[in-house]
Amino acid sequence: MGRIYNFNPGPAVLPLPVLEQAQSELIDYRGAGMSVMEMSHRSKDYEAINADAEARVKRLLGLGEDYRVLFVQGGASLQFAMLPLNFLPAGATADYILSGSWAQKAIDEATKVGAVNIAATMKEERYTRMPAADEIALSEQPAYVHITSNETIQGVQWTQFPDVGAAPLVSDMSSDIMSRPFDAGKFALIYAGAQKNIGPSGVAVVIIRQSWIEQAATTLPGGATLPAILRYATFAKNNSLYNTPPSFAVYMVNLVLGWIEDQGGLAAIEQVNRQKADLIYAAIDGSDGFYRGHAALESRSMMNVTFRLPSEDLEKQFVSEAKAAGMVGLGGHRSVGGIRASIYNALTLEACQALAGFMSEFVQKNG
Ligand SMILES: *Cc1c(COP(=O)(O)O)cnc(C)c1O
Repeated sequence: MGRIYNFNPGPAVLPLPVLEQAQSELIDYRGAGMSVMEMSHRSKDYEAINADAEARVKRLLGLGEDYRVLFVQGGASLQFAMLPLNFLPAGATADYILSGSWAQKAIDEATKVGAVNIAATMKEERYTRMPAADEIALSEQPAYVHITSNETIQGVQWTQFPDVGAAPLVSDMSSDIMSRPFDAGKFALIYAGAQKNIGPSGVAVVIIRQSWIEQAATTLPGGATLPAILRYATFAKNNSLYNTPPSFAVYMVNLVLGWIEDQGGLAAIEQVNRQKADLIYAAIDGSDGFYRGHAALESRSMMNVTFRLPSEDLEKQFVSEAKAAGMVGLGGHRSVGGIRASIYNALTLEACQALAGFMSEFVQKNG
């Protein structure tokens, strides 16, 4: 059996015990005589999976009855649109912090719906860090404030979330959800495509404050009625079973969340993630400038480690020699180049040790 060291940015590595459990339940799910893919989403078995997944998200984040967890298709990208459609009515302004490529995409979609204020931009600094508190200028009464907890492409991450007063705080957490403990109760809405840290592609997890759902718009700024499938309230009212959900993806998310609980929860996961990231940043910092990290020290991502080599030729050589040594997925995003090591929850410490060792050897040979 060949499992490779998988540094892919998303879809990404899944925990081996989860894949093994899915394999063992694939032909006959717990006596049902069929797989989860083949069963009705209205069956008792599937309803239990759906309820279990919602309960696990809440348990891991320490959330209570005042929050709902929704499973929505369309990835994080649909959330870029669905959020303003529900919460950016005519006459209101939403504040966005422009911290990288994904924040830019969220802004592009919100701008199509309504008024957007860029409360801070890191663009001139090539997205090398998150803004400090005194660099954020919120509008008077924003409909919400949107941040991106981890910029997957640039490899910069918030270490402390901004204080936005009474404004509803929203975060795209696609690439770092469930990677560390944080105060989820500060957020009105959190969304994440599952395919980086908590499952396969095909489903986004939306965590939303119950009282905020009730404030959502039902008409579009032009006056048309917001279609049912685009309303958070539709998903909440129907326990994410308004229409056929991505049932197998939700099943996989539930298994991954169970695996996180087995590891000891978010504090334990963070400890390993910290060790993993430290190994690779140490290889960068110990290379006498051969590797140049993209992120400023205080904003270094624990999930996506981005760096450059002295030339593009060396970067190509790095990626291809790493591949030959059993490490894949290390090429930077096509928009920024360089190297990116995505080291999500399911990637092992051993994989990061292997990469750090490879990096040191590569400097010795080519530095
Ligand atoms: C990958 C990613 C997205 C896009 O996710 P899709 O599920 O492909 O729409 C959005 N935001 C962040 C931070 C991401 O990492």
